[in-house]
Amino acid sequence: MAISDAFHIYDTTLRDGAQQEGLNLSVHDKLTIARHLDDLGVGFIEGGWPGANPKDTEFFKLATKELKLKNATFVAFGATRRANTKAADDVLLRALAESGAPVVTLVAKSHDRHVELALKTDLQENLAMIKDSIKFLRQGGQRVFLDAEHFFDGYRANPAYALEVVRVAAEAGADVIALCDTNGGMLPDELSDVVAKVISDSSARIGIHCHNDTGCAIANSLAAVAAGASHVQGTLNGYGERTGNADLISIIANLQLKKKQEVLPAGALEEAFRIAHAVAEVTNVSPSARQPYVGVSAFAHKAGLHASAIKVDPSLYQHENPESVGNDMRMLVSEMAGRASIEIKSSQL
Ligand SMILES: [Zn+2]
Repeated sequence: MAISDAFHIYDTTLRDGAQQEGLNLSVHDKLTIARHLDDLGVGFIEGGWPGANPKDTEFFKLATKELKLKNATFVAFGATRRANTKAADDVLLRALAESGAPVVTLVAKSHDRHVELALKTDLQENLAMIKDSIKFLRQGGQRVFLDAEHFFDGYRANPAYALEVVRVAAEAGADVIALCDTNGGMLPDELSDVVAKVISDSSARIGIHCHNDTGCAIANSLAAVAAGASHVQGTLNGYGERTGNADLISIIANLQLKKKQEVLPAGALEEAFRIAHAVAEVTNVSPSARQPYVGVSAFAHKAGLHASAIKVDPSLYQHENPESVGNDMRMLVSEMAGRASIEIKSSQL
């Protein structure tokens, strides 16, 4: 079933998620995970950086031949052209154009200090790099999204320049400008204010890309959506560098179950538990029992007092029906159990 383009669920498990310490994916692993992501019904799967990484080049070659995606669109990731060169002469940009991916996400600097210190160029040249790179890929018929790296830190330091990056990218033909909390240091209130200001300043479609360094990646993503972002990026099980990226499963479940916003094909959310664990099998990273919605403890009850209420009505001690995400209620029997715990447990056996 085709997914509406009005709201994007964008998965970057295979690129940003793979930057998690101790997580290593073969080309075969990446193909398997892509199939699971497509089953979950995400709109976009970012596959990696063809041209920059031989494994990703190989992955795109195989994916375009072997993967028959029913829901998702494949995305290649890369960077804007190098400073003081032509986009058409940039080997990495050409590899993106030749990747076979219908969508390319380009990462670009939006924080003035990063342009000068990390990219070692001037602010005007960075804008030209963004404009030329987007136009080059658009001319080849690809859809282009822009990841505005360090956007929130950049906005704090130099809001006019950060907004100029959004304006230039939209004018050059980028369909989405994803505001990235690259260092993951934001809190929901300030992030929400910045997203609202960007949206009031621009008619571009705004996206959000959060890291979890403050423990707020999911909350920040939801705050951005509430402020008007219509493209949300994350990873399965919150995989990612340092403390991880925003967990796409929690974002999706919160949008669908709490906000009544249908972002997956009908019936797909019930596959979340199965898919989260199937992907964990491939990554070889032990799933967290306490992961919201899909952890094995997410609907497990130990206290006897809770069990006696659950016996009357499970919603008294559960925020959602576990079956909505394909999980189960479990009754734990311990020294804290009461009569109801034993009754429920025995009826389950
Ligand atoms: Zn990131």
